[in-house]
Amino acid sequence: MNGDGSGEESRMDEVIARGTAVPALGYGTWELEGDDCLRGVAAALELGYRHLDTAQVYGNEDLVGQALADSGVAREEVFLTTKVWNSRLEPERVRSTTEDSLRRLRTDYVDLLLIHWPVRMDILPQTLEAMRGLQERGLVRHVGVSNFTPAQLREALAHAEVFCNQVEYHPYLGQAALLEVCREQDVLLTAYSPLARGRVLEDPVLREIGEAHGKSAAQVTLRWLVQQPGVATIPKAASRRHIESNLAIFDFALSDAECARIAALERGERIVDPDWADWAA
Ligand code: NAP
Repeated sequence: MNGDGSGEESRMDEVIARGTAVPALGYGTWELEGDDCLRGVAAALELGYRHLDTAQVYGNEDLVGQALADSGVAREEVFLTTKVWNSRLEPERVRSTTEDSLRRLRTDYVDLLLIHWPVRMDILPQTLEAMRGLQERGLVRHVGVSNFTPAQLREALAHAEVFCNQVEYHPYLGQAALLEVCREQDVLLTAYSPLARGRVLEDPVLREIGEAHGKSAAQVTLRWLVQQPGVATIPKAASRRHIESNLAIFDFALSDAECARIAALERGERIVDPDWADWAA
């Protein structure tokens, strides 16, 4: 389909934000190191993933870049995201650290550059301005944020065309308030830790719904996420078997009743909750 999404029905395997189509299912790489990372990214690209998620703090940008370069997949076919770490959000640092990321990733640009955490709201306009400068130079296609609360996202939107807010989102942690802002402002919500870092796998409700479709609890969860308007997700899997099965979610659909049952599993369970996070902000 056209990158601008005009004149065509949106496809289930992609989500459109600000006129750009993004593969709804991406490959997360947190905690993937060494050969596991090389093999994982290579398998993901071979199996058909076209959306990769890394971050400076994961320490694997070089491996992601190597696997991408070796894959034979054209750079422009892949939606590549990285994130600026907390200690590098001063404007001057944003520029140099992003250039370092590009070198490690062996690419001229990233599709999406995110502020990893809202830890320097005091200089948010300046950080975003520096990111916009990188965008103007063609080093960054889109700028975005991660772990921003609805209020923080609104603040960021006052300074820049924020493309995405990447946050923890799975059946045990709802994001209703944030989704409302994202949909109103055409911001992509990318769901991280979509499998609740493995906790959804044995869930009896998800398993029961899966049985009706011949799918696993993990597949039901990922399907539930990408079936929601404006939502993409980036499960991490080291094993080829998991990488492959996580992609097999576009050949079935959940009913409204099934989606409602999954949404009812919400219990405010946040897994990624470092000391510096302030969810009331
Ligand atoms: P996750 O994707 O919810 O869960 C990963 C775990 O689930 C791994 O132990 C994996 O096992 C297992 N798994 C994956 N597919 C499976 C399947 N089909 N069946 C059974 N088990 C399966 O957790 P996550 O890594 O925290 O989140 C995903 C990505 O989101 C990260 O890698 C990162 O890119 C991003 N993220 C971003 C932030 C942020 O602050 N922006 C924070 C956290 C995560 P194996 O690896 O053994 O296959």
